[in-house]
Amino acid sequence: MEFSAYLQAGLEAAAETLMRGYEGERRAGSLADMEQVVQGILHAVGRCMVKEWVEAEAPKYPDETVVCGCGKQAKYVRQREAVSLTLHGKTSYRRAYYVCECGQGQCPLDKRLGIEPGQMSVELQTIAALFGVQEAYATSSTTLARLLPVELSPNSIRAACQSAGETVLSAEAALLSASTDLHQQTATQRGQVPVERMYLSVDGFQAPFEDGWHELKAGVLWRADANQKACDQHYFVDTATIDEFANLVWAKAWEHGADLAKQLVVLGDGSVWIWKMAKRLFPKAIHIVDAFHAASYLGKIAADAFGEGTPQALTWFNQHKSLLLEGHLAQLMHACHTLRPQAPAAAAAARRYFANNRTRLRYPKYRALGLQIGSGVMESACKQLGLQRLKLAGARWSKEGARKLAKARAVFLSDKGNFSPFTLPQVA
Ligand SMILES: [Zn+2]
Repeated sequence: MEFSAYLQAGLEAAAETLMRGYEGERRAGSLADMEQVVQGILHAVGRCMVKEWVEAEAPKYPDETVVCGCGKQAKYVRQREAVSLTLHGKTSYRRAYYVCECGQGQCPLDKRLGIEPGQMSVELQTIAALFGVQEAYATSSTTLARLLPVELSPNSIRAACQSAGETVLSAEAALLSASTDLHQQTATQRGQVPVERMYLSVDGFQAPFEDGWHELKAGVLWRADANQKACDQHYFVDTATIDEFANLVWAKAWEHGADLAKQLVVLGDGSVWIWKMAKRLFPKAIHIVDAFHAASYLGKIAADAFGEGTPQALTWFNQHKSLLLEGHLAQLMHACHTLRPQAPAAAAAARRYFANNRTRLRYPKYRALGLQIGSGVMESACKQLGLQRLKLAGARWSKEGARKLAKARAVFLSDKGNFSPFTLPQVA
């Protein structure tokens, strides 16, 4: 950090000298005027510094030849100018350019610094994706135009999000193969400290594709902190089939040591695929039907029998929710049965649901163990993954477009402030 400290001290001193030494007229209408002027200057200075720094990274006297991809030697031709779109705007710089007799040209400096000439820098792509995973591409474009001295079209922001999603896909591909490699498994397991208790929640949600609504499957691995609040969430999502998604669930569980946790709790709604998968992947885990979801069946009966939102509906719901949470399943199912005349469909659905999930509804036991029985973590994950972005009004997605954006968004939800999808840890 010595160099950056040197730069900062020097620039601050220079700025002070410049400001104090100016003897002409200087009138600003407001602080806002000043901020805008200073911001513009800082970006111009930023471009200048990035250019100088990039060029200083090259050897003073370029090598006469470098190895070409074909194996032959490429010859130095000249210093060639290029442009990179950075956080400070269009930044031009010069670097050594080589051409081989096979016809291929190359700039070793670009390669070393990860510069794609003419394109957004990785940092700018990250910022573009950070906005694009949260807001519609058009809105993001407008917001960014206000913040950065570079115009990014909605298409550029979409490209950044898609590219982030592709990075997630390739990291997942590596993880998928590592997680099925027995040698890797034991090697990693030795290095990981098993956590006491980890939760896995899985769910599906719908998103509007070009050819209609389709299901995406999402999962989140998380822990509960000392105050029983969800923490350390790792989200993942895919448009995959159940089997493909199960592989991803296993890989992510393996990555975060869920398979090593002393106690793994799987929380889900009543979907049959979730419990089949949980039974196959994590037979020793505790399987719990999310209490909020289970109670929603009672809500439907109450609404059908007494009218939505009426005091009678609310009273019935609260009484029977207590029966559910206290584990009085037989009594609860009988109560559902007695409301069959008033709410035939809802009562039948609830009884079926409680009967099928009997072993996953032992709430008194789970609560005695101090387990979360319905955190809403998954509900909120699906809302955040789907509703808040994929379901924006008027949005229609290609399958791959939705898939990649959802994956980038899962990384955003997992990492929040540290969003850096282009530098995801890749499993060796
Ligand atoms: Zn060559």
